[in-house]
Amino acid sequence: MADPTGKPVSAAEARRVAEEARETEWKAPSFLKQIFLGNFRLDLVHPFPEAPPERPEFRDFMARLERFLMEKVDSDAIDREGKIPPAVVAGLAELGAFGMKIPTEYGGLGFTQREYGDAMKLITSRDANLIVLLSAHQSIGVPQPLKLFGTKEQKAKYLPRLAKGEISAFALTEPNVGSDPANLATIVKKTPEGDYILDGEKLWCTNGTVASLFVVMARHPDTKKISAFIVEKAWPGVEVGDRCHFMGLKAIENGIIRFHGVRVPKENLLWGEGKGLKLALITLNTGRLTLPASCAVLGKRCVEICRSWGNERVQWGEPIGRHDAIAQLLAEMAATTFAMDAVTDLASAMADMHDRDIRLEAAVAKMWNSEEGWKIIDRTMQIRGGRGYETADSLRARGEAPIPVERMMRDFRINLIFEGSSEIMRLFIAREALDRHLAVAGAFADPKAPFGTRLAALPRMAAHYAWWYPSRWLGWGRWPRFSEFGPLAGHVRYVDRTTRRLARTIFHLMLLHGPKLEKRQALLFRTVDVGADLFAMAAALARADQLRRAGAVEAPQAAELADVFSRTMRRRIAAHFRAVRGNDDVAKYATARRLLDGEHLWLERGMTPMAMAAELAAEAMPAAVGR
Ligand SMILES: Cc1cc2nc3c(=O)[nH]c(=O)nc-3n(C[C@H](O)[C@H](O)[C@H](O)COP(=O)(O)OP(=O)(O)OC[C@H]3O[C@@H](n4cnc5c(N)ncnc54)[C@H](O)[C@@H]3O)c2cc1C
Repeated sequence: MADPTGKPVSAAEARRVAEEARETEWKAPSFLKQIFLGNFRLDLVHPFPEAPPERPEFRDFMARLERFLMEKVDSDAIDREGKIPPAVVAGLAELGAFGMKIPTEYGGLGFTQREYGDAMKLITSRDANLIVLLSAHQSIGVPQPLKLFGTKEQKAKYLPRLAKGEISAFALTEPNVGSDPANLATIVKKTPEGDYILDGEKLWCTNGTVASLFVVMARHPDTKKISAFIVEKAWPGVEVGDRCHFMGLKAIENGIIRFHGVRVPKENLLWGEGKGLKLALITLNTGRLTLPASCAVLGKRCVEICRSWGNERVQWGEPIGRHDAIAQLLAEMAATTFAMDAVTDLASAMADMHDRDIRLEAAVAKMWNSEEGWKIIDRTMQIRGGRGYETADSLRARGEAPIPVERMMRDFRINLIFEGSSEIMRLFIAREALDRHLAVAGAFADPKAPFGTRLAALPRMAAHYAWWYPSRWLGWGRWPRFSEFGPLAGHVRYVDRTTRRLARTIFHLMLLHGPKLEKRQALLFRTVDVGADLFAMAAALARADQLRRAGAVEAPQAAELADVFSRTMRRRIAAHFRAVRGNDDVAKYATARRLLDGEHLWLERGMTPMAMAAELAAEAMPAAVGR
């Protein structure tokens, strides 16, 4: 790991860069921020935001989109050939799908986040490669940061082109920059005229091999700050390198992009010098809402597949869905899918309200839906048995329904890695969960802070915690509160009182571990998981209640799913709290360190050497270990 000058980037430097890019202010309310502070702000999620009446233009678009997907998109062929046919890309452009979130005055469709999410759900139900193409373009590609931070001139110049179907890409990742932007090595230097010269290499840029416009993050070597630029592929010095290939998403146009002394006009700087990383993170706040929507649809598809197969497949004298082991999976799958849908709709509706801070909700939606979705697809493969593992083409050739569980699984796995890996989402959420405590007590707990500063923090701490801590024990979270939720009221009461328990637990961990808590990721992540599960419960319960109030025909079924889901979450949350109190984290960490130090190389005996590791292994493996 090295910075552009070749010096290694320390953990402290990596943290400093991340802290600098952090949005520090919370101007609008956040449901999850309050959850971590022990305040159950039901009013922020309940009543569940109603979908506004469907606009006729949107209904018309969705009908045309569905027809197009059914008639023109052959997902097995796209997967087999590793290419989205140009006619499909052109058809999507003609529908306006590249400009769904671009305002109408620039030639886009001007969809709300929720409408965009619904369209993306429909597309996911047909093909994951198309979703990645459209999402890399407009959830995180040029239109999103341009809409948020572009000048009038920049918008007028680029948004109409993008709405018409010019493809864009988001270029942050580099060989040494995955989760940690402190290592950014693409550099930008200012010319005497005020323009910029860009040099460097970007890795895994989705749409990179077909895009004509990029949003590129690069570092100023003098100030070390990061800026974002709109870069055109047609400019001299932009080189589109090799296309990369992956386990799934066989047709994504993902590649290496190189910049050799590319002159970027000053007009193409986005937002301001040094604001590039913040721009990337803010872009991802709403940008990453597409992914949970896709995950929710995958859940629905899996429920459909397993319901049908659970009835149809008879083994040991009964349909497999009636064997208890499979029935348990089916119930959990349906209940979790209901919650995933509620989580994504709630987070999208909050984004449309523009009066909430959704950065934590979006991060949790991304992390939670992708992880639950992965469990669901894994269970679907189990329930489909050998047919789950068989390719759709092979099933078809044998005269069976070409249900592509194998492809769905391959395509899905990346969701836990890109747009913020699960671990990085947890770190981000944990940082925000601790924010108030760090603001109040951070200086006192910092062993490097001067004695005077630590002392000065004491009165502030005393004033805050004298009220805050006792009040996390008070509050009535029992009957008859929340009775308006009918049979689900007990679960709402549980969320209320568990919110306070979570805040107390976080506080106790801080007291116990002090600044070292930062290093105890396993502990911190359990508290993040409790917060995420509480958010999912709140979303599911509020959605079920909304359906009941609206007199929807499916209201009783929704209540049943919300109940099963809440029961499951309550057991899981209890297990998390137990594991906070007693765990093997320290022992496991020590074992991992010994493993990394090579003390367990004996375990790796008896295999052929891995191609890429053969020489390294030969060098590293002590002769005594042998084979
Ligand atoms: C198919 C595909 C498409 C992509 N599209 C784009 C794109 O369009 N634009 C773009 O810029 N990038 C893109 N990426 C890059 C993607 O965002 C990164 O892969 C992702 O950020 C993770 O980085 P990494 O793979 O280098 O993993 P690393 O950062 O090396 O991490 C490896 C593992 O360590 C964990 N980890 C890292 N740091 C910590 C920590 N501090 N604590 C605990 N765990 C940690 C990670 O969660 C992960 O599990 C794409 C990648 C793929 C595979």
